[in-house]
Amino acid sequence: MNMRRKLSVAGALAAAVGLALTTTACSSGGSGSGSEDTITVGVKYDQPGMGLNENGEITGFDADMAREIAKRMGKEVKFVESVSSQRETLLQNGTVDMILATYTINEKRDQVIDWAGPYLNAGQDILVTSENPKNINGPGDLNGKVLCAVEGSNSTERLRDQYAQDAQLYPAQTYSECIELLSSGNVDAVSTDDVILAGFAAQDQYKGKFQLVGKPFSEEPYGVGIPQGSDKCEAINTAISDIISDGTWENFVKSNFGDSYTPDPTKNPPTPRGCDKNI
Ligand code: GLU
Repeated sequence: MNMRRKLSVAGALAAAVGLALTTTACSSGGSGSGSEDTITVGVKYDQPGMGLNENGEITGFDADMAREIAKRMGKEVKFVESVSSQRETLLQNGTVDMILATYTINEKRDQVIDWAGPYLNAGQDILVTSENPKNINGPGDLNGKVLCAVEGSNSTERLRDQYAQDAQLYPAQTYSECIELLSSGNVDAVSTDDVILAGFAAQDQYKGKFQLVGKPFSEEPYGVGIPQGSDKCEAINTAISDIISDGTWENFVKSNFGDSYTPDPTKNPPTPRGCDKNI
């Protein structure tokens, strides 16, 4: 089979999958691929402490929040992986009902999806190796360096637009890829939300290998992404407020982050915004 033929087969397959997804979305009333009692949730599968697929068991703060929100809405969760660059698409094409995937509420995304939450406030930080050979101690040191750049992440956009216009950006799909690139010396630093970086740094295989610069330079309110026009926002916000006020939020923080990460107490726990709020 020549290349052109292979490509057209791939194209036909992609179209068929697309059609299947659309059909599923329509048959369940546009409510993701779940049934009446199931809610389909997009999470990360590679971010320890937030969303991690451990032999089929999905662990982490985002996964715990998703399960708990769903439970309080009388639903079961079905998880689907949602890498950064796919999040809006998965909501728009009906593959998922909601996304909890270290997903910052921002203006650009607000044009195409709706939000509940926020349920956690993080901040962009920098991870380097313990030796830190390029002497990176803050966002002002990033220019001219080789940085990992996850597609579809607003951390990457901030680097590109603000802090590292003259840096060399090494493209990746996920933060676990970035951590490998940092570990092997292919990039000088990984810059994204502190909670994500702390989760990787705390992994046994990386103990002593990395250091977090520890000076967050942005605000990252994590929202629950929902399709535009979804009627679930109020119910999700009520669930989030109850999860915070009855101590469950604090338990999830302790069980998922332990000593590796403490959410900034001046910004956490957050109060969900109103559902009618535009950014
Ligand atoms: N919170 C940022 C974002 O939503 C960075 C982390 C990520 O890409 O998941 O883009």
